[in-house]
Amino acid sequence: MVDSNQSRRTGAKPTKGLLTGLLVCYFCEQPMYYQPSKARGKLYRYYQCASRKHTAISADDLESLMEQEFLEAFGELPVRERVLVPGE
Ligand SMILES: [Zn+2]
Repeated sequence: MVDSNQSRRTGAKPTKGLLTGLLVCYFCEQPMYYQPSKARGKLYRYYQCASRKHTAISADDLESLMEQEFLEAFGELPVRERVLVPGE
């Protein structure tokens, strides 16, 4: 029995960065691409600009940061907590 879906692989793409196509390098204004790299068995996730001259950024940090900004920009979240900061 042949399952055509399983027997045929449609070009497995590497995991795409969440922000690929959205980010532009601060310095050279080139688009930034997701650049995962493996070192000592650990996967490091970065974004790097197209010129490859500029320092990559931790994808995890960036994505969580963007996620926050996105939520703040597009959603009045009812579950959002109001945090009182003492001292001001
Ligand atoms: Zn750059």
